[in-house]
Amino acid sequence: MDTMLTQIEGVMDETALGAFGSAFRGELFRPGDGGYDEARRLYNGMIDKRPALIARCADASDVVAAVNFGRDQGLTIAVRGGGHSGAGLGSVDGGLMIDLSAMRAVDVDPARREVRVQGGCVWNDVDKATSPHGLAVPTGFISSTGVGGLTLGGGLGYLTRRYGLTIDNLLAVDIVLADGRFITASATEHADLFWAVRGGGGNFGVVTSFLFRGQPAGPTVYGGPIFWPLEHTTTVMRFWRDLMLTGPEEINGWFGFHTVPPVDMFPAEHHLKKMAVVTWCYTGDLTQAEELFRPIRDVAPAAIDFAGPIPLPTLQSLFDGLYPPGLQWYWNADFVTELTDEAIELHLQYARQLPSVHSTMHLYPINGAAHRVGRNDTAWSYREANFAQVIVGVDPDPANNARTIAWSKEYWRTLHPHSAGGAYVNMMMDEGTDRVRASYRDNYPRLAQIKAQYDPDNLFHVNQNIKPG
Ligand SMILES: Cc1cc2nc3c(=O)[nH]c(=O)nc-3n(C[C@H](O)[C@H](O)[C@H](O)COP(=O)(O)OP(=O)(O)OC[C@H]3O[C@@H](n4cnc5c(N)ncnc54)[C@H](O)[C@@H]3O)c2cc1C
Repeated sequence: MDTMLTQIEGVMDETALGAFGSAFRGELFRPGDGGYDEARRLYNGMIDKRPALIARCADASDVVAAVNFGRDQGLTIAVRGGGHSGAGLGSVDGGLMIDLSAMRAVDVDPARREVRVQGGCVWNDVDKATSPHGLAVPTGFISSTGVGGLTLGGGLGYLTRRYGLTIDNLLAVDIVLADGRFITASATEHADLFWAVRGGGGNFGVVTSFLFRGQPAGPTVYGGPIFWPLEHTTTVMRFWRDLMLTGPEEINGWFGFHTVPPVDMFPAEHHLKKMAVVTWCYTGDLTQAEELFRPIRDVAPAAIDFAGPIPLPTLQSLFDGLYPPGLQWYWNADFVTELTDEAIELHLQYARQLPSVHSTMHLYPINGAAHRVGRNDTAWSYREANFAQVIVGVDPDPANNARTIAWSKEYWRTLHPHSAGGAYVNMMMDEGTDRVRASYRDNYPRLAQIKAQYDPDNLFHVNQNIKPG
């Protein structure tokens, strides 16, 4: 490490870096070091940032040291959890990346139904630890997504209707503040901060550990994707919308448009066809599942039907292979309160133009337990929205970016007038302050006050930023 430290050129004070490096228990990487390029890589291949220093922390003490070092050296700090931010907010050009990816422990207390998760875990770590106990923390649809970013932004997934957002299952966080203090925030300690981190993103500090309520689910559930030819979109989408608004909370399903990948698991006659897809998850009584799915299967003739009994961790990682790290990724989002028949027809128009095999549009249901929390009870404001919509232009080849981005933007512009106005912060690019305010609405002033109290100099600003107010 000493040789590495002497190579520093100008960005940081060498003596301070030496002192920091000698006490640091994790790994440090700088441009030119072996492992630097691997360490700086983000999920979105479109984003190519080069931090001056990457501090891969071993524990909470390392995080405290890194925050103090970055602040004292005047470095811009970015915090990397799972690295999945579409906007690449886990890294920074020329600054300090505090990398939590080595902090991956999960401890389950089945008797108390509590799950302690280190700040750098991905959801696969959590699923693997909770599933043997028949427990789950509500999470997302791709298991390589970071717990850190997903949770702090809200957290939508297969269990949202039954158990609420991920933040609705959060009991406490251990967090390193901008001034280097290490504290716990919960309903009883620093309750204002605990309110803010439930939706307010990485604005308030670096979370080294999350304490969640584990919910009874699985290990086996009934679910998986059912694909319908695009010509059935109107019928299927209306049916799915009504079921998600009125059906039992044990059933969830996100709607998407997908191009059938040309791989063996799909019948060859459907390869590269554009389809309407609902990926289901039913966590209720499995003996009732076939009965419950009969009307779903009767709605229109399906092209491919993969729904059946499946371990919840398998379902929650089913799309990992289709969306590996490194693809070029551009997305636009909105919350939707009323999914009108008119909007459905517009969706169909853009589904016909899906610009690449990976490009997609998803609508995630938000109701049931998520609606039983008030819009001012946590920082996450859009409690009355029924769906989160995200339009994603994706392709492995940068040469196709112009096409996928243009499709995504135009699709979003057309549907935006049919939306609730703001968007889920976790599915936005870097879109500026107005868009962040639109997502938090009347929670923004309180968030700004709490930001002023805990991070008055906006040290943590590489995020969907809330300005100290
Ligand atoms: C393929 C894919 C699938 C997705 N599916 C879902 C889904 O099903 N449901 C859903 O709700 N969202 C989903 N998302 C969105 C996801 O929630 C966000 O991209 C989220 O920001 C990813 O978190 P991360 O830790 O991996 O990201 P990072 O890029 O590491 O971080 C994102 C932001 O969170 C901050 N952050 C991360 N960890 C911490 C921490 N421990 N302490 C403080 N700040 C931290 C970072 O500083 C940064 O501002 C998906 C994203 C992708 C790319």
